[in-house]
Amino acid sequence: MYKQFGNYSTNYSELRGINKINNPIEIIKEYPDDYDVIKSLEQAASIHKEVRKTLQPYLRPGIKFVDIAKIIELRTEELYKMTQPNKSINKGIGFPVGLSVNECAAHWHPLKEDSNTLKKDDIIKIDFGTESNGWIIDSAFTVCFDQKYDNLMKAVQDATDTGIKNIGIDVPIREWGKQIQEVMESYEVTIDNKTYPVKSIQNLGGHNIMKGIIHGGLFLPSFDYSAYGPNVRFREGVYAVETFGSTGDILTREVGESTLFRVNPNYRISTVNLPMENTKKLYKKIYQQFDTLPFTDRYLDNSGIPGYKSHLKLLANKGILFSYPPLCVSPGQFTAQYEHTVYIGDGKKIVFSKGEDY
Ligand code: MN
Ligand code: MN
Repeated sequence: MYKQFGNYSTNYSELRGINKINNPIEIIKEYPDDYDVIKSLEQAASIHKEVRKTLQPYLRPGIKFVDIAKIIELRTEELYKMTQPNKSINKGIGFPVGLSVNECAAHWHPLKEDSNTLKKDDIIKIDFGTESNGWIIDSAFTVCFDQKYDNLMKAVQDATDTGIKNIGIDVPIREWGKQIQEVMESYEVTIDNKTYPVKSIQNLGGHNIMKGIIHGGLFLPSFDYSAYGPNVRFREGVYAVETFGSTGDILTREVGESTLFRVNPNYRISTVNLPMENTKKLYKKIYQQFDTLPFTDRYLDNSGIPGYKSHLKLLANKGILFSYPPLCVSPGQFTAQYEHTVYIGDGKKIVFSKGEDY
């Protein structure tokens, strides 16, 4: 469909970490009412799944990371236009895709000029968001082309599935995280003749989702988190259940410059007192275009503001924007991630983003 992204083999057998999608996906074309949280998330999820289906055949060694991002964005936009494009915040894009490879676990996104490609030996975490009525589907999977990573991916998929199975109203979150860790760390993986016990990464995890706010403030650990007492429990709400596994390190650290940002929701445009006219202009543009949804450098390329990157930096330094630098473990190690968006409450549990693929 997207010829500009090159020819691709239709042989799916080498793509590991997800199943091939065979059945058609039903796109919910009727735009839900503003207040309808469940229907909004169902619609965003139907788009998320269809985008994944479109993307599958392009996930091959040699594809540019920036092209993976473009396919996701163009397809999201196309599908969203079938509903009510005038209502969209950012064309249905919930947040820019994370394309973190190998030791990097989260928040890597290419610059416009990036020419790097996916390699045959890479293990990549693909984490993207779709949006409807401000409600965001946050879901991620891991793919590779070599069976040596299979057990690492299985461990993390099993851990995330455990989190989904056990989540429920009044469940204590510390115990919930401990059970995830037990499942994750029951695996080991042999990569290039070296065997590693799989470890649950502790400074990344799930979170609640609120309208227009991807990280609602509650951290969902994938380990026995002693800071949470027995009364920290799940309540009715929308949650991103996600876990990360590694071949050793249990902590990631920030590596390199951020290309991902979002407006700090505590700021309002009228209260912002900025020193330079162009910084003000850029902030205004960002707020109008993305509201509090995450965005990336590439989306500001046509902002018409010269040297916008320095203003972006200034806004981040002042705390007006949150920034999200890549999060990685030590070089030479490997990481995997799986994530679904889930609603619990009213006697039900809905795993919106679950599909045939993962
Ligand atoms: Mn995510
Ligand atoms: Mn998430």
